[in-house]
Amino acid sequence: MRNAIRRNRFTLSIIAGVVSCLTTTSTVIGQGGGPLPYRPGIDVTDYAITLDLPERGTSIAGRAVLTVRRWGAVDTLALDLVALKVDSVLVDEKPVTFARTDSLVRIPIGHVVGDSFSVTVRYAGEPKDGLIIRTDSSGRWTAFGDNWPNRARNWIPSIDHPSDKATVTWTVRAPSVRRVVANGELMEETPLAGPPGSIPRTLTRWRESRPISPYLMVIAAAPLVYYDLGRDGCGVGEFSSCVRQSVYVFPESRDFLPGPFSHAAEMVRLFSELIAPFPYEKLAHLESSTRYGGMENAGAIFYADAPFRRRTMQPGVIAHETAHQWFGDAVTEREWSHVWLSEGFATYFEALWVERFAGDSAFRDEMRRIREEIFKAPEVASRPVIDTLQTDLMALLNTNSYQKGGWTLHMLRSLVGDSAFFRGLRSYYLANRHSTALTDDLRRAVEASSGRPLGWFFDQWLRRPGFAEVTTSWRYEASQRRVIATVAQGGRFGAYRFPLTVSITDAAGKERRATIDVPAAANTTIVVPVQLDAAPRGVAFDPDVRVLAAFQAR
Ligand SMILES: [Zn+2]
Repeated sequence: MRNAIRRNRFTLSIIAGVVSCLTTTSTVIGQGGGPLPYRPGIDVTDYAITLDLPERGTSIAGRAVLTVRRWGAVDTLALDLVALKVDSVLVDEKPVTFARTDSLVRIPIGHVVGDSFSVTVRYAGEPKDGLIIRTDSSGRWTAFGDNWPNRARNWIPSIDHPSDKATVTWTVRAPSVRRVVANGELMEETPLAGPPGSIPRTLTRWRESRPISPYLMVIAAAPLVYYDLGRDGCGVGEFSSCVRQSVYVFPESRDFLPGPFSHAAEMVRLFSELIAPFPYEKLAHLESSTRYGGMENAGAIFYADAPFRRRTMQPGVIAHETAHQWFGDAVTEREWSHVWLSEGFATYFEALWVERFAGDSAFRDEMRRIREEIFKAPEVASRPVIDTLQTDLMALLNTNSYQKGGWTLHMLRSLVGDSAFFRGLRSYYLANRHSTALTDDLRRAVEASSGRPLGWFFDQWLRRPGFAEVTTSWRYEASQRRVIATVAQGGRFGAYRFPLTVSITDAAGKERRATIDVPAAANTTIVVPVQLDAAPRGVAFDPDVRVLAAFQAR
């Protein structure tokens, strides 16, 4: 998602509201040193969720049928569900006696024979969060799911953790004036028979046939109008050769369209070409009540409504959320501390869209701007990108996960070259698509594609705080007709190892380049391997903006 206020030529997204909900989770450390699975021995493979939405008020009624697989000795299933009243629980369609706390439903499963069974939970009440129900100043009732990071549990009985992905079917009964949109493919829209004089109601069913994490499982129910992005919305899809794209907005936003969405097709085409076919049944973009600037729900991206109303929405946020469909949604970080695998990728792929459609110098400007943000962020100086000690999940939405994560990909690309970089990303994606991954999965994929050990690179940029602080100088050695460069690294974050491009403007005004390997040392003197005829006019370091270093010339 995007939740920062960013202003530049390509992107502008406005925070939807003050982020006030601080969520904490505790991490249990296993004997092997890594965190234990969130619910060991249990895997939900499918959710079939039926919701009845009211004409007014915030009370909903739900029935969730979970298909559960058990792979360990577990005799109680603990489902996350906050506050709502549970009326009944069935296991394999037989009633069981369950226990309720404010945040869990504890269900006995010790008697179940076999390793697969169904659990049906009937529940009702007013969700405190997760499903945002509002009535606007014109009296319009709206509901939008907004689950990141673990707010699905406010309205969906679930194993509410990104590691447990499942397919989902949504069946929603609501007044017919509202349009219901959700993940996946539209299966059914049927008017319901009601008593004479009653408000007409419609049943809408959507089916997501790819497993997704609960934080991405959403519905929208609001008086939205549909805008088809048409044949231009065709790219390359996993389901068909054509990705159907559309926008759903409130009627007063209709004349803003297609606006920034006129770039939606080229974004899907670019990311499909760089990585793999688009992973979901369709891609809808919605004006919504999300608290974020944009939220990458699988196949149904929800955006803040203010940039629609003000007509200020820019394509950058669309590129970011669209990139998440591959990274974050289809390949999901298994542990929250690896959230850079989602946000760092979305940040960098937004920049790759700039590179493709605005050119190299715009891309360099974008990477320079992002680098400046990294230098200024206190969390970059104090904590690593993979921050296993941070238990406040909202605090992980920071410059480390986004900007420094994105910059790490940028440096990985420079280190191994475009071909090995994108081959590595593709094999990482294809090996973990519709599943989950950790940073080592990415490391191994790029090690295989480049044939180089990269443990030092990932440790250096992701497992320790800070960035390189480099003081450069050079002199021309007339006897050898070469430039001698010296690189001194600051003590604040220690020394880093990186390739450094040196651009020499020779006496004739011609640019000559060489890339030297700078070791992780306090002081390095390197002969730049460029043969000159005379003293150069000038020497520049890192002309392509490829090192996460604050450079100073001595
Ligand atoms: Zn994001």
